[in-house]
Amino acid sequence: MVASLLSLQARLTACRACPHVVGTPVHGAAVNSRILLIGQAPGPREASFGRPFAWTAGRTLFRWLEAATGADEATVRACVYISAVARCFPGKAPGGGDRRPDEEEIERCSQWLSAEVALLKPRLVLPVGTLAIASVLGHTGKLLEVVGKRHQTSFFGQAVDVIPLPHPSGASTWHRMEPGATLLKKALALLQKHPEVRETFGTRRRGPRPGKKSPPKTAPQGGKAR
Ligand code: SF4
Repeated sequence: MVASLLSLQARLTACRACPHVVGTPVHGAAVNSRILLIGQAPGPREASFGRPFAWTAGRTLFRWLEAATGADEATVRACVYISAVARCFPGKAPGGGDRRPDEEEIERCSQWLSAEVALLKPRLVLPVGTLAIASVLGHTGKLLEVVGKRHQTSFFGQAVDVIPLPHPSGASTWHRMEPGATLLKKALALLQKHPEVRETFGTRRRGPRPGKKSPPKTAPQGGKAR
């Protein structure tokens, strides 16, 4: 399995299909996991670090995930397959901030996501932010309609549970203001008690504390074998 993921990632790394993106494709580790996290697109720094969510949004995201799983960033990266709607930095938007990947780029890049789902056969999908949520659930309405709930859908032919998360970008205030803050807590509580999370991280019951750091309860290395 890991060899197949590495082979897929080697082909992904060589992809240059989109003329308007900046830099090279970014992907997470080749983790054999039933939990698939899907982000939007890398920012300007991720390619140089060689991993997704490597900068400030990532710090917030891994703090949330630590609250739900009891595991630190390194452990989460070793246990969860991290993917994205688009794998290359789209560049800056004319009005400032990062450009969102366009529909053609998302469609083109979905080949990699589809191939990852076919290999991993995930049971739990965590779309992070509106673009990823739209890709997984087809939901283009308000975040408050889907965050804080557990959904079920077919994703590239695979029956999955879906727990959407807001984007952890510092530019977004959604997760810091009500009702976003409460819905985020609900989402992390759902994540904490999901059977796949409990199996992967051995999570012990405790309330999610997205604003508070704590040592990992367990530190499985390399994800579960299957
Ligand atoms: S965004 Fe995706 S499809 Fe486009 S060049 Fe990057 S890896 Fe290839």
